[in-house]
Amino acid sequence: MENKEVMEKIVSLCKRRGFIFQSSEIYGGLASAWDYGPLGVELKRNVKEAWWKSVVHTREDVVGLDASILMSPKVWDASGHTENFHDDKVDCRYCKKRFRSDQLEERDCKTREKCDFTEARAFNLMFKTHLGPVEDEKAVTYLRPETAQGIFVNFKNVLDSTHRKLPLGIAQIGKSFRNEITPGNFTFRTREFEQMEIEYFTHPDQAEACHQQWIDERFQWYLDLGMTKDRLRLRKHPDDELAHYAKGCSDIEYEFPFGWSELEGIANRTDFDLKQHAQFSGEKLQYHDQVAGEKYFPFVIEPSGGVDRATLAFLVDAYHEEEVEGRSRVSLRLSPKLAPIKVAVLPLLKKNVDLVELARRIKKDLQKDIVCVYDDTAAIGKLYRRQDEVGTCFCVTVDVDSLEDGQVTVRERDSMKQERISVEGLKEYLMSKL
Ligand code: ATP
Repeated sequence: MENKEVMEKIVSLCKRRGFIFQSSEIYGGLASAWDYGPLGVELKRNVKEAWWKSVVHTREDVVGLDASILMSPKVWDASGHTENFHDDKVDCRYCKKRFRSDQLEERDCKTREKCDFTEARAFNLMFKTHLGPVEDEKAVTYLRPETAQGIFVNFKNVLDSTHRKLPLGIAQIGKSFRNEITPGNFTFRTREFEQMEIEYFTHPDQAEACHQQWIDERFQWYLDLGMTKDRLRLRKHPDDELAHYAKGCSDIEYEFPFGWSELEGIANRTDFDLKQHAQFSGEKLQYHDQVAGEKYFPFVIEPSGGVDRATLAFLVDAYHEEEVEGRSRVSLRLSPKLAPIKVAVLPLLKKNVDLVELARRIKKDLQKDIVCVYDDTAAIGKLYRRQDEVGTCFCVTVDVDSLEDGQVTVRERDSMKQERISVEGLKEYLMSKL
């Protein structure tokens, strides 16, 4: 299959089955804005929950935060975003399109050879807005372009309220906004997106070792959730690509059908951010290590990933097409941790009242502990195909024999192997497999 065709199939599956819709579609759609449908929202929540569990709940040294999207505009002066957060853009006098000057080679343009570019100009990527009823300069603020600054400005609050010692990480998931010049590749690059970021504060002497640990851990996270190892790689930034304050940065990249692209960056941001905020706010943001009798600005290691990008990568990676008995079979081989639906309960005959009643009872019992659905709206072959296509891990089929022997057929998604399991032991069986 052509790479372009793979992407088209995934976009079409996402729409058809309720993973991702075009935003404002009934009005012709808003370019590069996407809405997560009933299955998409489950998948995305599972990605976020897997991340939160891995970086907050199963560690001793990271706490969570949920800061607001609107912040004082002074934050963006201190962070350098007001002055420096821009991409260089060029306009084409011929096709009238606008491109990022560092992406001219891969630009999507049908009249490439005729392109005639203007000089590059800086274009600030922050969305400007006004706070309150008066739209003057004093009321200007921005939609945050990253969640990280919400963490830096709360560093002192978190330390004071938790009485924690360094090293300590603060994790946050939330929306960010960037007025990207060339969004595209489905949900890969959009103007509104969700980030999952950690700022890990540590002693400057420990920063380098700590950076490596986070690179390893974050890489492993994608593998633990079933991502294909050969399609993941690390890319260390050369020195001339690093932000002036950064001491090092490695990206985790995934091989999408449109090429190797960044899922997450893990940077050593040194003590830049806290020093800037200390200077601009006048607050004392140094850490006082009372045991060692030392005061210092901690260094910060920042693993910063995109929820939408990770979700897209998991979808692409799970997409599987094969020929079974002369027909094409599509399945999403998602990890059970990510699959939007874990189990589907399907009665073989919907006209048999007893059978339907048993199937409904099984579903009702399972749903207390397992995300599951009941479906009797088609013949069993079609029901299986529907569930495979959305990545449901197990189908439980209730048939007439079930009424006699108290057993149901459990079919596993990837192998399509079927097993008879007693209704009594069903939940335990499924929970152990999931
Ligand atoms: P890129 O080079 O792709 O523009 P970036 O290096 O500017 O990304 P960061 O500022 O490091 O990205 O942001 C951290 C993470 O946030 C990225 O790795 C990505 O997963 C996500 N992200 C950034 N911009 C976007 C976007 N426009 N759409 C979706 N996700 C994004």
